[in-house]
Amino acid sequence: MSSQQGWSRRQVLSGLGAGIAGSLAGASAGAGQDQKESAHAMSPVKIRKVRAITTAPDGIRLVVVKVETDEPGLYGLGCATFNQRPLAVVEAVDKYLDPFARGRSADDIQDMWQNAYTSSYWRNGPVLNNALSGLDMALWDIKGKRANMPVYQLLGGKCRFAVDLYTHAGGRDAKEIEDDVRKYVEQGFRHVRIQLGGYGSSHLSNNPDFRDAGFGLPEDQYMDSVPYLRSMPKVFEHVRSVFGDNVELLHDIHERIAPIDAIRLVKALEEYRPFFIEDPFPPEQNGYFKMLREQSACPIAMGELFNNPHEWTDLITGRLIDFIRVHLSQIGGLTPARKLAALAEHFAVRSAWHGPGDVSPVGHACNAHLDLAIPNFGIQEGPRFSERLQEVFPGCPEIRDGYLFVNETPGFGIDIDEQAAARFPLPDHPGYWPPLRRHDGSAVRP
Ligand code: MG
Repeated sequence: MSSQQGWSRRQVLSGLGAGIAGSLAGASAGAGQDQKESAHAMSPVKIRKVRAITTAPDGIRLVVVKVETDEPGLYGLGCATFNQRPLAVVEAVDKYLDPFARGRSADDIQDMWQNAYTSSYWRNGPVLNNALSGLDMALWDIKGKRANMPVYQLLGGKCRFAVDLYTHAGGRDAKEIEDDVRKYVEQGFRHVRIQLGGYGSSHLSNNPDFRDAGFGLPEDQYMDSVPYLRSMPKVFEHVRSVFGDNVELLHDIHERIAPIDAIRLVKALEEYRPFFIEDPFPPEQNGYFKMLREQSACPIAMGELFNNPHEWTDLITGRLIDFIRVHLSQIGGLTPARKLAALAEHFAVRSAWHGPGDVSPVGHACNAHLDLAIPNFGIQEGPRFSERLQEVFPGCPEIRDGYLFVNETPGFGIDIDEQAAARFPLPDHPGYWPPLRRHDGSAVRP
């Protein structure tokens, strides 16, 4: 290139720049102010503090993470609830994530997630994943507040007007279950999960021999899978005969029976057209899904105990399940959940995120924002927000006609009243589950 050509090129670029600047300056009298506001909105924000807040308005040990920034009044909330080990999560947040995150950018969510995830070197356990989820969701909440948008807008906007829910009906026999189903159908629910007694129907079992023998402690629980396995097909037959095709029925095996018994039960329930059967196997037994798929076309939902991408990747890419139902805080928050949802979409696997009482309202709101934005949404396990929960967490999503509606407030649209939260401290019991035993006292593994 000659010097003449170089000069001409510089002159042309300079002239273009001047012209653009001139037209911008003349575009409107308010342009300067707009640019200033825009520059303010995008100015960097740093994390000032990360801390865990515990509360138990309904007796369930909720852990919520609050991330404060160096911009006055700007903070985010995330769910880190692990009802069975809450204090371990609090320690992971306050003693490890807080010093790691302080002074770092609140904007760079991906960068934070990757580096916080590997900052412990050992990873993918439920305690550290829940702590990380608290930080991750809080950063998405902050991002939404800075963008002045609900989080679902940041995820691409709505794929549906609201989130279709399933709710839980139960009873000690088929008639009680029928009455409970009717109650929810009248409230507008289109999907109802039916359970006979508690998981595994322990009320059908007699006094176990291990108690008479003085084995274990009096608090230890008992389950005999035989009466449960015999009863569930009869329950489905009864409920289907009463309600016909007017309701979708679901059931949770809850991983408590032998894998081959679970396959037999799924086959027996298939003729009653369940919407899905949930958690047929414990997380260590993924190898049984292929055997189940070869024998039944019943839709299968799995994943609430999963922590690690290795647990779900083969099930999804092998088309061995129909619904992925991980617990979002258990896998590390919204950032990994978005990627999981996209992976599942490619294989026509739908979502059914875990949504029990031991998810905080912040976590339920996060579930709902993701549900609204992903094309492969399947169904959402429905939350129940008591008056106490709504007092502690202003802005809870609303349930109407079996749908969940988030509010349009920027971020997740949910807050925490810390004074109200402090009025409901964690229960004295630390939260572990008592042993569940068979007749002879041997342990049942969920
Ligand atoms: Mg389950």
